[in-house]
Amino acid sequence: MNLSIVVPVYNEAENLPLLVDAIHAALDDLPITWEMVFVDDGSKDGSLEALEELAEKNLERMRVVVLRRNFGQTTAIAAGIDHAQGEVIVLLDADMQNDPADIPAMLDKIDQGYDVVSGWRLDRKDTFLTRTLPSRIANGLISWVTGVHLHDYGCTLKAYRREVITGFRLYGEMHRFIPAYANSVGAKITEMPVHHHPRRYGKAKYGLERTLKVILDLLTVKYLMTFANKPIYLFGGAGSILILGSMLTLIYLVVRRLIYPADPEMHLIRSPLLLMAMMLFTMGFQSILLGLIAELLARTYHESQHKPTYTVRRVIHAAAFTPGVQPEYAHPSATSPAPQIER
Ligand code: UDP
Ligand code: MG
Repeated sequence: MNLSIVVPVYNEAENLPLLVDAIHAALDDLPITWEMVFVDDGSKDGSLEALEELAEKNLERMRVVVLRRNFGQTTAIAAGIDHAQGEVIVLLDADMQNDPADIPAMLDKIDQGYDVVSGWRLDRKDTFLTRTLPSRIANGLISWVTGVHLHDYGCTLKAYRREVITGFRLYGEMHRFIPAYANSVGAKITEMPVHHHPRRYGKAKYGLERTLKVILDLLTVKYLMTFANKPIYLFGGAGSILILGSMLTLIYLVVRRLIYPADPEMHLIRSPLLLMAMMLFTMGFQSILLGLIAELLARTYHESQHKPTYTVRRVIHAAAFTPGVQPEYAHPSATSPAPQIER
């Protein structure tokens, strides 16, 4: 097995030497090839110098990606994944709250055939009101909306098979949705309790405001997971319902008028419902048009990046043909690195 440990770093100078030691302690005796990819996310506290020093001592194991400014944890993770070469990628925080000693057990799960092993901080050591509680609510919400049932999306310590996470880009606070994305491409996912320690050095970079971002991201993820291929189903569906509402309101008004032809109060133009019917119609029509534009965008999205609308686990090959020929449409992200050929 080839393993890459990806660590985003923002102002964690004191933690870094401890972390590298802990990673060594956890992995040195395993029969695997491994590397560490540290991403310096514009630190201002000497983390970069600490990383340079550590890289000197760990020449063959350590890669340091230095970003030009602070981009945020998710982007730092994305940069790390882009520079990682392992077939298994483990994400880890630099603050020593996650424990590298949990990694070997996670790798066992990967060996058992899982594509994603999600760490779960069963006994979380963060402030309850601003971190643990909102995170619990967010976890419940994410698990309900995405249909991927995990207890702890926010825990960075997770292990992934490379091919389930390299086919998409990470935006905003999205790294917590990697398991949901992996699920949508058919990954086998499991969960494992991991240790969690209070922060000893450095400061936590996030507070309550993160929860709002997470909820907005969840909306995006749900949309992308369910409708990215067929946006017209969402917009067209909503538009049809609005137009139906408009029609029903109109019919009601006309029927009422016919039943009471002499009553001036029943005049169509006197009822606020007429205005409502017209509004519903306009909104419904707009929504359908929006859906058509979104359909164009969906096509641009997939076709400009040669992103197929499906993911292949493997191709079973007929003996008469040359094995290993890449079909024209195959994008590296859509298949396993080398499609396995079975006869
Ligand atoms: N981090 C980062 N860029 C940022 C903020 C944080 O790379 O802009 C890193 C940070 O160094 C740590 C990880 O992301 O390794 C998680 O940060 P933190 O511990 O503050 O978050 P929490 O564990 O409280 O969610
Ligand atoms: Mg932390």
